[in-house]
Amino acid sequence: MKIIIVKTNTFIASLIIVIWGNVVLASEKIVFSDLSNSLEKADLIKSKDPIKFKSIMLDLSHKTKLFSGYQLCYFQYLQGYALGFEGNYSVMVEHLDDLFNECDDLDNKARIKLTLANIHVISREYEEAFIDLAFVTENIENIEEPTIRAKTYSIAAIVYRLSGQFDEAIQFSEQLINQNFSPDHVCKGHYNKLRVLMESDYSEDLLKNVKDAIIFCRETENHIESLFLQLDLVKQQVNFFAEDPDQINHLYSELISLENDINMTQYHNLIVYYKSIMAVTAWYAGHPDVARELGVSSLSLNDSLGNTSQKAFVLDMLIFDAIQRADYELGYEYLSIKYQVDREVFDLKSAQSLAFFRVKHANQARNFELRQLKQKNNVLKLGQELSKEKSKKQQLMMLLILSLLLFLGLWTYKIKRKHDYFKHVSEIDHLTQVFTRKAFEEKIKEMINVSETKNQQINLAIMDLDHFKSVNDQYGHLVGDWVLKQVIKDCEEVIDQDTLIARLGGEEFVVVTPGISLDETVVLLEKMRVAIEKLDCSPSGQDFSVTASFGVTSSLVSGLNSPVLLTHADVALFQAKNNGRNQVVIFEG
Ligand code: GH3
Ligand code: MG
Ligand code: MG
Repeated sequence: MKIIIVKTNTFIASLIIVIWGNVVLASEKIVFSDLSNSLEKADLIKSKDPIKFKSIMLDLSHKTKLFSGYQLCYFQYLQGYALGFEGNYSVMVEHLDDLFNECDDLDNKARIKLTLANIHVISREYEEAFIDLAFVTENIENIEEPTIRAKTYSIAAIVYRLSGQFDEAIQFSEQLINQNFSPDHVCKGHYNKLRVLMESDYSEDLLKNVKDAIIFCRETENHIESLFLQLDLVKQQVNFFAEDPDQINHLYSELISLENDINMTQYHNLIVYYKSIMAVTAWYAGHPDVARELGVSSLSLNDSLGNTSQKAFVLDMLIFDAIQRADYELGYEYLSIKYQVDREVFDLKSAQSLAFFRVKHANQARNFELRQLKQKNNVLKLGQELSKEKSKKQQLMMLLILSLLLFLGLWTYKIKRKHDYFKHVSEIDHLTQVFTRKAFEEKIKEMINVSETKNQQINLAIMDLDHFKSVNDQYGHLVGDWVLKQVIKDCEEVIDQDTLIARLGGEEFVVVTPGISLDETVVLLEKMRVAIEKLDCSPSGQDFSVTASFGVTSSLVSGLNSPVLLTHADVALFQAKNNGRNQVVIFEG
């Protein structure tokens, strides 16, 4: 009996050894084939789920001997990324710079340069950032990996946003939104675009878009983007509702409810941003002690990150608080820091613009500098003459004039860029890229003048999407926006270059056809109507169809007068809606 037991035990033991051996062998095979998968997985979740990221990286660090050259490089790149995530930017940059020279495949090189561009812009080294980015954008044709291409657009959007080049930031964001990339990239596209728009706009529409994007990013587990947008929204509202205690209390509790989610991300930048906004909101919500404590700690944290605009936001509150408590000494101290910060902000903006110019518009930058130099020379010449008289006072004056000239030069340049940007924004509708109502009013005047001199007719139609509100209500605003864009894209395919399309507002567009007959115009509108009816909406993720109604008139009936043309087209449109929609109706005089 005993013997049998012993034998049975030996048998079980050898069985275990054999099974164990197989498990080890199998798991090594898995390790081999799964290394690339693990690397890609780590890359994918590195910002979304830092805890899991760290655990995958730890696991991988035991297997480095099994890596191929490409995999090792990929792994070391991720290690570099982890350094940045913890805020060790300078160590990270050094690591990645070395790695860039060591790695010899384009994919890894692109990954490294993209991350470097990101870090350089965070550390305000704009010229470096633009140069890093240029390496990737110049090689983008040769990069096969779509995730890297998407990442290029994503980083470009970030770099241009953070460096104040808003047109470019929006352009790259829209690539992300429109190019069928993964939901993560679509979220990043909306995120960057909306953060740019929030810099200059506070409208119901924008608010709604931001809220939609917050939900979209959260649902696709892009928590950092979602939370940043949420904080931006609170920040805007705190400024807006500073005098309204109910609203402020509401925002304060909203912030408190976010704390857990924010801390979970472990993202240093986001946590500091949260503290800054929390400080100011707490102050307005009547918790000055909390506000002061958070404010002071966020100042030093922002210092380490170099976030000047967030510092300014907190300092305003601290100054106000100190003055209110009649602590003038402290108030003065904060005021001096604020003065310093304001100067930094100005220097920063100048540096951004100059770096952008240097890299992207080298010629313009050279001319700009030449002009500066010329002015400087003139002033110096004068200065030399003055120095002969050894008048210290006058020399000081010259110095003042010199810095004033420099300041004015930069200022003029900045204003010109802003002006160009706002002119573009006011003339081209952001969503559909057709003319805005304002631009239409200019264009129609020109068209009427031409028609008068050439003695030819023009025709004007108003197109309005049918039951569009229910598209928004059922599928959400983002899908509604997608439809608007797609409808215009399809319509533009059937019209010729003389036809003018402009967005009158909402889902209403005006179409003007100069120099053709009303019948020909109706044929064209019919083509547009059919194109819209046939529009395949499934790429938006929803299955539905849209139609549009048209009202049209010609100058033969309504005269060469734009308000009358618009009114008559509108009357016909009303009839088209009443007759059951999805049709073209001609105004009968
Ligand atoms: P009708 O057939 O009578 O024209 O019905 P409708 O629902 O199209 O008309 P209504 O004027 O009631 O609603 C227009 C809707 O268009 C309201 C608003 O939700 C939507 N809308 C306006 N501008 C935008 C926009 O920029 N994006 C999106 N997604 N929706 C918009
Ligand atoms: Mg409508
Ligand atoms: Mg309408």
